Amino acid sequence: MNIVKLDPELSLQILEKVGIYSNRFSISEPKILLTTKEVLDAPKEMTEGRRTSAYKYYGVSYLQHDLVFINVRKIPDEKTLENTIVHELIHMRFPYLAHGKRFNKLVRQGLRGKIFPPYRKRSKISAI
Ligand SMILES: [Zn+2]
Repeated sequence: MNIVKLDPELSLQILEKVGIYSNRFSISEPKILLTTKEVLDAPKEMTEGRRTSAYKYYGVSYLQHDLVFINVRKIPDEKTLENTIVHELIHMRFPYLAHGKRFNKLVRQGLRGKIFPPYRKRSKISAI
């Protein structure tokens, strides 16, 4: 049974958390979808690849479109909710990074309140 129920108050709480963490991670706030219905209603090109399968996951990042799905109905408790929010926003801040030890470390640091400077693509020009 799910103990996290999606109501307007919870939606607001989630958006607030997204705002706080986006600030700390120096990213623009992504658009947030909170139900599978919203995923299915979004333009297909935005959710391509994880559209009808989105329900299986706690969260999905659609990096190209600055879009994040938080699967509130699947998430069992508040801790998992917070984890999922931070996990997806770490994807946004570190778009080149795959899942793994380094990724998990960044999630833990994010949960602890770490501030990350803005992401910059590495310049191909080196200093002389
Ligand atoms: Zn992930």
